[in-house]
Amino acid sequence: MTELRVRDLTAGYRRRTALTGVSAQVPAGGWLAVIGPNGSGKSTLLKAVAGLLPHRGDVLVGGRPLHRAGRRERARLLAYSPQTPQLPPGLTVTDYVLLGRTPHLGLLGREGRGDLAVVEHVVERLDLAGLARRPLAELSGGERQRAVLGRALAQRSGVLLLDEPTTGLDLGHAQALLDLVDELRRELGTTVVTTLHDLTISAQYADRLLLLADGRTAAHGPPADVLTPAVLTEHYDARVVVLTAPDGTPVIAPVRGG
Ligand code: ADP
Ligand code: MG
Repeated sequence: MTELRVRDLTAGYRRRTALTGVSAQVPAGGWLAVIGPNGSGKSTLLKAVAGLLPHRGDVLVGGRPLHRAGRRERARLLAYSPQTPQLPPGLTVTDYVLLGRTPHLGLLGREGRGDLAVVEHVVERLDLAGLARRPLAELSGGERQRAVLGRALAQRSGVLLLDEPTTGLDLGHAQALLDLVDELRRELGTTVVTTLHDLTISAQYADRLLLLADGRTAAHGPPADVLTPAVLTEHYDARVVVLTAPDGTPVIAPVRGG
């Protein structure tokens, strides 16, 4: 079981606290989207949950405190794709995505047929097949972003943390990625936490939204409860109307001022 619980998480950087007392519970197979204006602490939250930042509070995966898990177990429990990844430029797309299988490899460290099948599936679905043998250094920004996500998805961890996964992707590739993530959660019960700057897309894919403002929880709940004009005006200082899509999810449309 891969329920994710975050209890009273406080985290920050050398001189400043960027996240204060944030709690969230995501059931196995659930999808939480973390939203909030620039600098509100979204990336800090994901980094702290991934164990990459000093923090206070608890992170539990399937009831197990993450800090007690060793490296390999942790990588099977949780995959993290950062907003600004550092990439080894010489690797090809396939070799890089294959790195996602590392925590599953046997003692000899050699990948099996199952590992290659997972990689092939991810590469295919993210439209990377034509680029599979190309070095990462020779990819466009959006192609590179898809390779990074491919590695995280190939990890097949219980929990998937994706920081701004659609940044730099055109609409079709963004939807293909989010559909694949959705498929993993439906078929494997993967628990998903994403930050997403697009509020309409957040509402379409996540079952709950967590709105951060100045590092604290400003709102938390189903998309239609969080994405109200009053909340968006208060926290984003934006002019919007909230429409309703045919399936009932909110559509956030900007309105020009002045
Ligand atoms: P978001 O992802 O919501 O845009 P972040 O979590 O990246 O915001 O940042 C939250 C706050 O922490 C911001 O005020 C940002 O300037 C600060 N911050 C982010 N990264 C660092 C860092 N490496 N060192 C110091 N402060 C940082
Ligand atoms: Mg961020």
